[in-house]
Amino acid sequence: MSKPLSDHDRKKQISVRGLAGPENVAELKVAFNRHLHFTLVKDRNVATKRDYYFALANTVRDHLVGRWIRTQQYYYEKDPKRVYYISLEFYMGRTLQNTMVNLALENACDEAIYQLGLDMEELEDMEEDAGLGNGGLGRLAACFLDSMASLGLAAYGYGIRYEFGIFNQKIVNGWQVEEADDWLRYGNPWEKARPEYMRPVKFYGRTEHSPSGVKWVDAQVVLALPYDTPIPGYRNNIVNTMRLWSAKAPCDFNLKDFNVGGYIQAVLDRNLCENISRVLYPNDNFFEGKELRLKQEYFVVAATLQDIIRRFKVSKFGSREIARTDFNELPNKVAIQLNDTHPAMAIPELMRVLVDEEKLDWDVAWNICTRTCAYTNHTVLPEALERWPIDLFHHLLPRHLEIIFEINRRFLEFVASKYPGDSDRLARMSLIEEGPCKKVNMAHLCIVGSHAVNGVARIHSEILIATLYVFKDFYELEPHKFQNKTNGITPRRWLVMCNPGLAEVIAEVRIGEDFVRDLDQLKKLLKFINDDAFIRDIAKIKQENKLKFAVHLEEHYKVKINPQSMFDFQVKRIHEYKRQLLNCLHMITYYNRIKKEPNKHWTPRTIMVGGKAAPGYHTAKMIIRLITAIGEVVNNDPVIGDRLKVLFLENYRVTLAEKAIPSADLSEQISTAGTEASGTGNMKFMLNGALTIGTMDGANVEMAEEAGEENLFIFGMRVEDVDAMDAGKGYHATEYYNRIPELKQAMDQIAGGFFSPKQPDLFKELVDLLMHHDRFKVFADYESYIKCQEKVNELYKKPKEWTKKVIHNIAGCGKFSSDRTISQYAREIWGVEPSLEKIPAPDDRCSFIATHIELTAPAHDK
Ligand SMILES: *Cc1c(COP(=O)(O)O)cnc(C)c1O
Repeated sequence: MSKPLSDHDRKKQISVRGLAGPENVAELKVAFNRHLHFTLVKDRNVATKRDYYFALANTVRDHLVGRWIRTQQYYYEKDPKRVYYISLEFYMGRTLQNTMVNLALENACDEAIYQLGLDMEELEDMEEDAGLGNGGLGRLAACFLDSMASLGLAAYGYGIRYEFGIFNQKIVNGWQVEEADDWLRYGNPWEKARPEYMRPVKFYGRTEHSPSGVKWVDAQVVLALPYDTPIPGYRNNIVNTMRLWSAKAPCDFNLKDFNVGGYIQAVLDRNLCENISRVLYPNDNFFEGKELRLKQEYFVVAATLQDIIRRFKVSKFGSREIARTDFNELPNKVAIQLNDTHPAMAIPELMRVLVDEEKLDWDVAWNICTRTCAYTNHTVLPEALERWPIDLFHHLLPRHLEIIFEINRRFLEFVASKYPGDSDRLARMSLIEEGPCKKVNMAHLCIVGSHAVNGVARIHSEILIATLYVFKDFYELEPHKFQNKTNGITPRRWLVMCNPGLAEVIAEVRIGEDFVRDLDQLKKLLKFINDDAFIRDIAKIKQENKLKFAVHLEEHYKVKINPQSMFDFQVKRIHEYKRQLLNCLHMITYYNRIKKEPNKHWTPRTIMVGGKAAPGYHTAKMIIRLITAIGEVVNNDPVIGDRLKVLFLENYRVTLAEKAIPSADLSEQISTAGTEASGTGNMKFMLNGALTIGTMDGANVEMAEEAGEENLFIFGMRVEDVDAMDAGKGYHATEYYNRIPELKQAMDQIAGGFFSPKQPDLFKELVDLLMHHDRFKVFADYESYIKCQEKVNELYKKPKEWTKKVIHNIAGCGKFSSDRTISQYAREIWGVEPSLEKIPAPDDRCSFIATHIELTAPAHDK
C-alpha cells in the first residue's frame, strides 16, 4: 500500500487555509517556544508530545483573546438583541484545528510546526474531545455555535461543564465496555474559569405565601461557577462565548446550620452537591427520570437566567450605563432557545423571577415569558419524552411545581373556553398527566410557554402537528406557533477541516472559496458534471481519503482492509429505531450469496458500523455483540477473502467521524420512516462525497429533493405506508420470515448459533425481538433494502457514473449548512438579522498593550 500524500504537502497549496508568510511563521515559532518555556515550563529535551500540543494550543489561543475581548466590548456598546441557546449537551469535539481554520492560521501554524521538526497531525491527536454530548442533538448545538458566530449574532451557548463527558467505549471480546471520560485530566487550554461571576442556585426547601408575595425558603444553595470557552466565527473577527456551569459547594456548606457529622464530614459532603456537574447522562433519545438529572436541568437554567437578566438590566443610554427596569423590553432584547425539553425549567424559572422577585403581575410576566422563549422538538419517540413525577418535583423544586400548576390552571381554562365540554381534549393537553403517578409533561410546558415550536426536518415538523399523541391538539389551538427548521451542519468542520483534499478540489480548481461561507455556491459544481478532469479529481480525493483511513485502522486497530472495496458506513448511536439490525441482515445475506456462488464477480465491500449503546440499553449492547460476531465469521472465512469485511468501529465520537466520513462511499440512513427526526450524520456524508442508501425519513427526504431522488438509493416504506400498515392489517414479522427464503436463512443462522458457535443461544433475545415484538418493522423493509443494495453494487462497478451521482450530491448540499438553519432561526424565531460583515481585527502582537492602554475604553459584556 503506497503512503497517501502527506497533509503537510497537501495543505500548503491551499489558500483556504490562510497565508503562511515568513513573518507569520516566525512569530508563531517565537510564541510557541515562549509557551513551551513559560507556560509548560519545559525545554525540548524533556517536552512530551502533549507539551507540544499545549504549547501550540496556547499559541493559537493567543490569537483569540483580543478578538474575544473586542467582540464582547462591541456587544456591550451596540447592545444588540442577545440570543441564548440553552442545551444540556454541546458535543464540541476538538478545538485546535477549528480555531486555526476559522482564524486563517492553519497554513502558517502547519509551516511553523514543520520547521520546528514536529508533526501537526500528531500534535492534534493529543487533544481530548470535548464529548459533552450523546449524538445528533449535542452535535447540532456545537454546529449552531459555529454558525451563530460566523453570522455575527450576539449569541451565547449555555450548558453544563460535565467533569466526565460521554464514556469511552472499549470493545472487549465483542462486547461494549464503558470507561470514564476523564477529559480534563491534563487541563483544558480552551476554557477560562470566571469565579468572580459565580451564581447561587437553590434546591429543596418550601414556599411561604403572604400578601406581599411568595417566598422560597429553607432551600439548599449550590454555587454555579462559569467556565467560558471562545467560539470564533469564520474569519469575521467575532468570538462569541460558550459558558458552561460547574457546581461548587458554598464554603459554609453543611457547617452553619447543621454541623451534623462535624467538620470533616461536612467537608466530605461537599461532593454531594458538586456531583451535579459530575457526569453527562449517556442516553440518546431516552428519558431516565433520575433526581440528579432533574437537578442538572434546573441548575443550568437557574444560573443562566441570572446571567441573562443581569446582562439585560445593564443597558447603555448614550455613553452612560443605566439600569434597565422595564421588563416589557425583555422579548425585544433577549431570545431564549430551548434545545429539546431538557432546559424546559427556564419557563417556570423565568416566571418565578418575574413574579416572585421582580414583582410583576402574572399576566405581564407570562406575556414576557412566552415572547422570549422558543422550543425545538427533537423526537416523537414516546420513550424519549420527558415526564417528571410530581413527587420528585415537589421535593426538589416546590415553588416551580406551584407555578406549573398555575400555568396549567390558566391554560386549561383557555382551552375549555375554546372547546366547551371537550373534556377528553382537556385531559390530553394538560401539563399534568393523571394516573397512579402524576407527571409533568415537559413538552406541553414548553409549547404553552413558548411563542415558537419547531421540528428539525420538514417531515418531522409535519408529523408533530398531525399526530394526536404528539402536538396535534396544540397545533389546532395555536397554529401560528408551529414551524420547521431543518437541521444543518457547519461546512467549516465537516468539509474544510476534515476533508482538505475535497475542499481544495472545489475551491482552487473550480468555484473559489466563497462556498465556505455560502454553501449554496456548491450548485456551481453542476457546470462540471461532464468535465472528465473534475470527475477524476473527485474520485482521486476519495481514493486518497480511503487509503488514509485504511492506514489509520491498520495503525490503531491492527486490521487490514481492502482500499479498493466499497466503504459502507453506518455510524450513529446504536438504537433499535436506527435499525442497525437491518444492516446486519444485509451483511449476512451478502455473505450467504458469496458463499453460494463464490466464483461470481461480487462488488467488494467493507461494511463498518460504529456507535455507542447507552450503558443501560441491553438490546443495543446485544446489537453490538451481533455485529462483532458476524465480523468474526465473515472476516475469517477464506472463501470470502477481501470481498466482504464487517468491522465494528470502536468509540465513535466527533473525532472519529472526522476521520471516517471523508473516506465513505456509502452512507446508511435506514431508520423506519417516521422515527428519525432529522439526522445530521446523513448530511456530513453527503457533503463528503458519499452516496446515501436510505429511507424517506428525516432530512433524507430533503436531501433527495435537493440532489434529485435518482441520485440517492431510496428504499422501503414511506410514512404513509407505515401508518397504513398500523391502521390496517398490522405488522407480522413471521409472514416475511416464511415468505422470503434468504431472510429465513439469515434469521435461522442467528438463532442457530452460526455466528456464536460457542454459545448458540446468545442472540435468542434479538431473534425473539425481530420475530415477535419489533416496533420498527425491520423485516418489512428487508426485501426492498436488499434489492436496493444490489443496485448500489451495480453502480459501484461503473466508477464514472458513481462519481457523477456523488457530484450531484455535493452540489445539492447547500441547504444543509447550519448557516442556513441559523439564518432561519434568526429571522423567523429570534427576530435578529444575520450578517457576514467583519468587525475590526485587533493587533494580535500587542493586544496586551491595547487592552492595557484602553483602560478608559469601553467595558465589556460579562
Ligand atoms: C453527527 C454525529 C451524530 C449524529 O449522527 P446521526 O446519524 O444523525 O444520528 C452522532 N455522533 C457523532 C459523533 C456525530 O458527529
